Amino acid sequence: MKTLKIAIQKSGRLNEKSVELLKNCGLNFENYKSSLISPVSNFPLEILFLRDDDIPEYVQDGIADLGIVGENVIQETEVEVSYLQRLGFGKCSLKIAVPNNSDINSLADLHGKAIATTYPAILGKFLKQQNITSDIRTISGSVEISPGLGLSDAICDLVSTGGTLKSNGLKPFADVMSSEAVLIGSKAVAESDLVLELIQRIQSVLRAKETKYVVLNVEKKNLDAVIALLPGVKSPSVVPLAEEGWVAVHTVIPERDFWDRISQLKQAGAQGIVVMPIEKIIL
Ligand code: ATP
Ligand code: MG
Repeated sequence: MKTLKIAIQKSGRLNEKSVELLKNCGLNFENYKSSLISPVSNFPLEILFLRDDDIPEYVQDGIADLGIVGENVIQETEVEVSYLQRLGFGKCSLKIAVPNNSDINSLADLHGKAIATTYPAILGKFLKQQNITSDIRTISGSVEISPGLGLSDAICDLVSTGGTLKSNGLKPFADVMSSEAVLIGSKAVAESDLVLELIQRIQSVLRAKETKYVVLNVEKKNLDAVIALLPGVKSPSVVPLAEEGWVAVHTVIPERDFWDRISQLKQAGAQGIVVMPIEKIIL
């Protein structure tokens, strides 16, 4: 069987989460920092550790079959690859920001102004759609200091919490794109059995992350009210307790409305609620 290659970031914001995801998929490998390639001992796969900027092209050219990289990098490099799976980490937005005291108040005010960015292709497309002509200044890093240095009137950069903007006296002004880490594949392998197997493993890990396993005790007379509150579960397991008239209910609850759901369950008579993480959900 052909061994696949997956490219992930060598170091930086996506490295740790990419390694963790692959390990949670049951893949055994050393997280070599000094070596470019690490073989997986229990799956026909090799991990390539690269700079994130290089990943889209490596995948497009078939040097790597798969890659984990931010959507922002894929859009900027304008490559032909297949999007296989959103991964739910590395979330950020590409935003235009201006100094706090700037007189730029609307997108139209950007006309004729200088905008510093490391994302000239994405920004160029965005401005074109808005019919705005600005002077895009491509720089390779530390974009946030360029207005202070008099290099630009605005910047276009990745933001997650906004802390870096704030500490540089900048305020976010317009959203250009939102991004998260995605699994990409070369057109040649996107449908292969091995890739589908890996995608299934990844999906089972992602599903598990979004849900919690919950066990609770309830008096039989309140059981229907409790079951009515359980979302999207066809048949929660109901197990009799030693104490007459009481049962334990086992179910899964989505993380996103977890606290609301728990307080509703308590009001409906649930007691002794135990919540556990789930490792994998295989459908
Ligand atoms: P490399 O050395 O691999 O080229 P880098 O310095 O270009 O790394 P990082 O800063 O590690 O890249 O960011 C990697 C990716 O993490 C980004 O392309 C983006 O998709 C995502 N990301 C999430 N939050 C942020 C943020 N606040 N700033 C920058 N990138 C972020
Ligand atoms: Mg980079």
